[in-house]
Amino acid sequence: MMRAMSDIEIIQDELIRIRRRCRVSWIILCGGFLLAVVLVPISYGAARAVGLAWVILSIATRMSVMMCTCPRCHKNFYERAFSPGWTRGRCANCGLSLEEGKREG
Ligand SMILES: [Zn+2]
Repeated sequence: MMRAMSDIEIIQDELIRIRRRCRVSWIILCGGFLLAVVLVPISYGAARAVGLAWVILSIATRMSVMMCTCPRCHKNFYERAFSPGWTRGRCANCGLSLEEGKREG
């Protein structure tokens, strides 16, 4: 049975997307750094290559989080790349929480 998505469902859908992008960004930020540190004593060349990829991927994934728009106020969800609200998971403009929504995703 087909039915139109309600506003709540659209907002929750968008929140899940932002959460997912955020998580990927954190995993790359932490994981890539750890991987580079672990590789230094093993192979400096490999560590340098991972380090370079890490910087590029970190910026790319952070940009993708930065480009998320809030599903409620339709402004940028995060105002700056490293704002205090970044870890809080709230919209910089209207305060919509990422936790409002389904637990899945
Ligand atoms: Zn908002």
